[in-house]
Amino acid sequence: MEILFVIVPVLIVLGIVAAVIASGLTSKCPACGKWWGLVQTEKKEISREPGVKMVKRKEQHKDSKGNVTQIERDVQVRTMRFTYDGAFRCKQCSHELKKIWEEVKETW
Ligand SMILES: [Zn+2]
Repeated sequence: MEILFVIVPVLIVLGIVAAVIASGLTSKCPACGKWWGLVQTEKKEISREPGVKMVKRKEQHKDSKGNVTQIERDVQVRTMRFTYDGAFRCKQCSHELKKIWEEVKETW
């Protein structure tokens, strides 16, 4: 039982460390290698494309006797795929970088 008091905080710390590393890596400067070096200086949308995707949704149904059953079904959601063109600059060495990336958002 007491082992939980050790494991849970350790897992939380590991989760935070992983999140920090992930954010550091995505903004790591390719020229000087400095983590969190890149700062976004420009972001513009170059295209958007509508689409659909299937997601699983959980629904609860209550019958007349008050019994609750949970069902999972596939629902189609509309998405919009945005393509961005952005620029980043390193705070450390002023290295400039251009990046094109996509973001998919559910529109309803
Ligand atoms: Zn740099």
